[in-house]
Amino acid sequence: YAKSRGRDRYVVFDRKMHDRSLAIMQVEKDLRLAIEREEFCLHYQPIVSLINGEIVGFEALVRWNHPQRGLVSPAEFIPIAEETGLIASMSWWIFQAACCQLREWQLRFPYYRSLTMSINLSGQQLEQLGMVERLDRILQEVGVEASSIKLEITETSLKETPALVTTLHQLKAMGFQLAIDDFGTGYSSLSRLHQFPIDTLKIDRSFINQMSRDPKGLAIVEAIVILAQHTHITTISEGIETIAQLEQLQTLNCEFGQGYLFSKPLDSNAAYTLLAQNVTPTRLNCISAPFCQ
Ligand code: C2E
Ligand code: MG
Ligand code: MG
Ligand code: MG
Repeated sequence: YAKSRGRDRYVVFDRKMHDRSLAIMQVEKDLRLAIEREEFCLHYQPIVSLINGEIVGFEALVRWNHPQRGLVSPAEFIPIAEETGLIASMSWWIFQAACCQLREWQLRFPYYRSLTMSINLSGQQLEQLGMVERLDRILQEVGVEASSIKLEITETSLKETPALVTTLHQLKAMGFQLAIDDFGTGYSSLSRLHQFPIDTLKIDRSFINQMSRDPKGLAIVEAIVILAQHTHITTISEGIETIAQLEQLQTLNCEFGQGYLFSKPLDSNAAYTLLAQNVTPTRLNCISAPFCQ
């Protein structure tokens, strides 16, 4: 009896694996079509100063506008795009589209001329030959300064290879700002950081989430902010959802933040409207007290 049950379980397991690989193959097929049909779009999440609530930039976040399924989250297709190498062509489209959007906003809103656009780079893109030249060409075509683009690289794709270190120094020399994304979730030791010409650490959402419930979580965020200050690196906290978290981060002197408390990622029109109001994000108005002391 036990044996047959055991075997059943294997059957179920196999079928699940099989279903999963079929699902992945289906997504891969759909992704190829999506690239041809240009079904991707970008949403933009404001990044705000935690000192005065001003919008200092946006992070471009890709969405897949699937004909049947509607907006699909990048968590669902970016890993598959990475596995299949499709990420490369997608990434170039994303970079170009985000630059064009920034250019449009900078021209339309002189008040926001120093607005930055944060763009996520995939690990594979960083390893592509000629990528630095290609980024430069796009900037020239679009008419955007490298200094107003912040390239986000996840901690896990920061490899210590000489080639990657060289690429990062080239990007830095061109004027790009460089940020480590999801900081704290990878395996990089703090002592390694100085090898990379980094401007910004983005403290991973999981720490911000823990912070208000657990004194250890708070201590970790504090340690990251202090380390960054000492090395002249700015910090952006990801995933700020509550006023309590905002207040804690202000106390720790974290400079910038991003999260649903301020705004979810917005489509291009909604982000435009926000900028046109020339005010801090609406949620910030409701909770402006922390900024009005
Ligand atoms: P990420 O770069 O760390 O982006 C932040 C993610 O956190 C976004 O999810 C954003 O919507 C979400 N988020 C922001 N504030 C909050 C909050 O207050 N609470 C919660 N629970 N979540 C919040 P999204 O857009 O689903 O993107 C997920 C990940 O997919 C990104 O994480 C990034 O690693 C990847 N990704 C997104 N767009 C691109 C892209 O254009 N290229 C590449 N290579 N990866 C991308
Ligand atoms: Mg990011
Ligand atoms: Mg992040
Ligand atoms: Mg993240």
